Amino acid sequence: MIQVKTLDEIVMEAQRQSINLVRFIFADLSSIVRGKATRASKLKDRLEGGIGLVKGTLAMNILDQLQTDTGFGAAGEIRLIPDPDTWVVLPYAERQAAVICDLMELDHTPWELCPRSVLKRQIHKAKDMGVSFQAAFEPEFTLGTTSEGIFQPLDRSLCFSTEGMNKASRFINNFIDALGKQNIETEQYYPELGHGQHEVSISHMPALKACDRQIFYRETLKGVALEMGMEAYLAPKPFENQPGNGCHLHLSAWDIYGERNLFFAESGLSAFGMKFVAGIVEHLPGLVALTAPSVNSYRRLQPSSWASAYTCWGFENREAAIRVPSVYWGQEMATTNIEIKCVDSTSNPYLALAGVIAAGLDGVERNLTPPEPILNDPSSLSEEEREANKIDRLPTSLMDALMELEDDKLLMGMLGARLADTYAAVKTSECGAFGGANPEFEMSHHRNRY
Ligand code: GLU
Ligand code: MG
Repeated sequence: MIQVKTLDEIVMEAQRQSINLVRFIFADLSSIVRGKATRASKLKDRLEGGIGLVKGTLAMNILDQLQTDTGFGAAGEIRLIPDPDTWVVLPYAERQAAVICDLMELDHTPWELCPRSVLKRQIHKAKDMGVSFQAAFEPEFTLGTTSEGIFQPLDRSLCFSTEGMNKASRFINNFIDALGKQNIETEQYYPELGHGQHEVSISHMPALKACDRQIFYRETLKGVALEMGMEAYLAPKPFENQPGNGCHLHLSAWDIYGERNLFFAESGLSAFGMKFVAGIVEHLPGLVALTAPSVNSYRRLQPSSWASAYTCWGFENREAAIRVPSVYWGQEMATTNIEIKCVDSTSNPYLALAGVIAAGLDGVERNLTPPEPILNDPSSLSEEEREANKIDRLPTSLMDALMELEDDKLLMGMLGARLADTYAAVKTSECGAFGGANPEFEMSHHRNRY
C-alpha cells in the first residue's frame, strides 16, 4: 500500500532535509517537463493554493513557439496544484524537491487541457467497468559525452554485452541509486544494440503512478547525466545511423482489488485480453499520434528495427505493435501483460496511457475480435498476405498520424475538443518547424529536449 503523505508531513520533511526550492512540475502537450518552484518557506501555502501559470504555456511547441491560433496567449491563468503523493527530494539537484501537478482552473475544477486529468477520467471509467491497470514505461536511452560539438557515445559495444556493462557501470550505478532514493525500484539493466544505448527497467505501478514515474525517470536520467558531465538522450531516433530509443509500455488489467489479472489465461491471453488487444489494434493509426508524437518518432517506427511499423499483434513478436511477452515460470498470473512497442519518450505518458486504455476498453465494450496474431516480421510478408491478415503500415509521419487521430472519434472524445484542437495546433507546428530538408536540425532539437 502506498502511503500518501499529508501536507504537514511534506512541509516537515522539507525542513528536515533543508530544502530550498520545491519544483511544481507537469508535462506539457509535447511532454516537455515544465514548472515553477516555490521557496520552501512558502511551501504550505503553495501546496494548498498552488502556483499560477499562464494558459498559453500549453500552446507552446518544443521550440517555445506559442501557437496563438489556439486562442491561448498572454491572458488566462490556471493553478499548478500538486499531488502530494508525488513528492520527491531530487537526488541530482542539491536542496531541491519536486511534486507533479494537476492543471486546475481558478474555480477548482480540472482544466480541460490537463493531461493528468485525461488519464484520471479513463481510470475512473475503467473502475466503473470493474477494471484497474498496472503499467510500466520502459525507456531506452543513449549515453555519451560531447566535446567540441561532437557527440562521442559512451561505448561501441555489442548488444547485451558485458563490455557495454563495464563502460557504463559508473553512470548506471548512479542512475539506479538516484531512482532508488525516489522509491523507484529498478528491475533489469542491459546495454542495447546502439552505440551508447542502454535500458534500465522499473517495476510496474497503478496507471497514474506509472506515468508520474516516467516523468521522474526522464528527469533523473537527464539530471544524473548533467551532474556527471555526460549527455543522455531519450529521443526516438537521436542519430540517423543508430537504432531508435523506444519506450515500450507494459500493461496489465486487473479486477479493482488487484487480485485477478484479467489478461491471464492458461492459453496465453484471456478473452478479455483479446478484446482489449483488438481495441488497441483498431485504434493504432490515430493512437500513435499520442504514443509516438514527435516528428522524430517516425524515423524510429521503421520496418525490421524491432520498433514496430505495422498494425498487428503477436506472441513474443518484437516486430508487432503489440507484443504478448512470455510469462515467468510459476508467476504466470502475476506476469501476464501486453507490451505496446510503438511508444517513445517524447509522448506525454498520461495522454499515451489514457489513449491505450480508451482504445482497449473500446474493444471490450464492443466485443471486438482481434485479427490473427502475427508470428513473424510483417515486412517479410507479401502485400497480399498483409492484406489478408488486415495488417496496415502505421502512419509514416507525425502529420499522417495527426490526420488519423482527427478521424478517430473515440480518441478525440477522450481528449475533448479544446485539448484535441490545441494538441493538433502544437504538433502541426512541430511538423512545420522540423519538416525542412535538414534532418540534423530535427534530431539535435529532439536530443536536447528529450
Ligand atoms: N530499440 C528498439 C525500439 O526502438 C527496441 C529493441 C528491443 O526490443 O528492446 O523500440
Ligand atoms: Mg529494449
